Amino acid sequence: MKSAVAMEATRRRAQHGANGKSSEEEGQPAQWGRAWEVDWFSLSSVIGLLCFAPFIVFYFVMACDQYQCSVSQPLIELYQGETTLLSIWSRAPSFTWSAAKIYAIWVSFQVFLYMCVPDITHKFIPGYVGGVQDGARTPAGLINKYEVNGLQCWLITHALWYANAQYFHWFSPTIIFDNWIPMMWCANILGYAVSTFAFTKAYLFPTCAEDCKFTGNIFYNYMMGIEFNPRIGKWFDFKLFFNGRPGIVAWTLINLSYMAKQQELYGHVTNSMILVNVLQAIYVLDFFWNEAWYLKTIDICHDHFGWYLGWGDCVWLPYLYTLQGLYLVYHPVQLSTVHALCVLSLGLVGYYIFRSTNHQKDLFRRTEGSCSIWGRKPTYIECSYSSSDGGVHRSKLMTSGFWGVARHLNYTGDLMGSLAYCAACGFGHILPYFYIVYMTILLVHRCVRDEHRCSSKYGKDWKRYTDAVPRRLIPGVF
Ligand code: NDP
Repeated sequence: MKSAVAMEATRRRAQHGANGKSSEEEGQPAQWGRAWEVDWFSLSSVIGLLCFAPFIVFYFVMACDQYQCSVSQPLIELYQGETTLLSIWSRAPSFTWSAAKIYAIWVSFQVFLYMCVPDITHKFIPGYVGGVQDGARTPAGLINKYEVNGLQCWLITHALWYANAQYFHWFSPTIIFDNWIPMMWCANILGYAVSTFAFTKAYLFPTCAEDCKFTGNIFYNYMMGIEFNPRIGKWFDFKLFFNGRPGIVAWTLINLSYMAKQQELYGHVTNSMILVNVLQAIYVLDFFWNEAWYLKTIDICHDHFGWYLGWGDCVWLPYLYTLQGLYLVYHPVQLSTVHALCVLSLGLVGYYIFRSTNHQKDLFRRTEGSCSIWGRKPTYIECSYSSSDGGVHRSKLMTSGFWGVARHLNYTGDLMGSLAYCAACGFGHILPYFYIVYMTILLVHRCVRDEHRCSSKYGKDWKRYTDAVPRRLIPGVF
């Protein structure tokens, strides 16, 4: 009953928002989290993504499988009438039960590790924060608990992978490459099933009805999600599981499988493949090392769980974030030493900026400003905001360190790292550069989205911050 009342209240608030006035103008508590209202631009983007995103994944994977990673060749052949969409489709490897079995074992194993193996690594790895941790306060004022055991899951999975490759030989290390396209169908089935389940669950048995958001538009609700933190039982958190595993744990295994395939096909592994494996492994390990920090990022703190996260984590992330390694299986590029060193430097400097920026914010927030940033006590702007239960809370926006140089230098560092992965593939084809194009769109859009949200969360205080730090990503430029 309490849930039904709360859902009605959230629906009414959604209708309020639709009259065009901001919540502040209406004398309501400022809204934060994802949008309540859907404009035509957002709606058409959502419908476009729902229709085209699966096709984009299919297109890139097929370009590699059938056209040696040429993005333009299929289009030229289609244009000249030499092929049809139907013939590309009919040449695509189909669903196989053996791929379904591998995929089912993979996901079940990750569920098992996530749910049944509580973290012990934090007890013996100095400086690592794992085990039960608090998330950020939700708009309804809740603070969820999470079992942070991603690093442990990654270590166990990779130890088993290594043990298999070196000693047991239960399966070939090329297993992922060899089943890549048949497994794409399985990943799609899981992605759609999870998103549809989360959508239905939000109506029938939401985990926290007060944190649900209904916009009145079914497509938007399906894509951007209704429930904030859907869970099954006390601990199976959809966002933490699907965001982190199986997709990100798989990322490094997928790259290892590509490396094994290069070895099998050409008898050696190129320096470009090693660079892609190393740089992306640093990124993945960083993610799991900082999983407790990840609980305070936008994915967990603001995004609702819908198709965007559910399907995105199951399909988009493993298939498109790993395009460089896939490309290098078809084109084994050996870089000159200078080129390889430039790529390595770009990747490491990007990573340093990305990590240090995130670390500074985390340290600042954890210590409530009682810390040292670049050798000094940090400066900040005091802010206040309201949650939908009427509570008023205080927060701080730092204006020191990287956060005083630009408002999102962590994204800039991320983009530098992304460019390094692409540049590791040489300049023969544009396909490996898809990643930097995508990441630029993602992070610029994310930056704008985040600032819109912060502006409605903090109101005038956010304006004071943007006056103090006027640039978003590149000092003096943007
Ligand atoms: P941030 O970690 O930058 O978090 C933004 C939030 O930080 C804001 O909403 C606000 O939250 C708070 N904040 C903003 N300015 C300040 C400040 N000056 N001082 C203190 N707090 C501030 O963003 P994300 O969660 O998007 O990104 C986390 C990392 O993940 C980034 O490095 C990003 O590059 C990476 N990422 C990678 C992706 C990938 O696919 N590879 C995808 C998305 C992100 P509050 O409400 O708490 O004030």
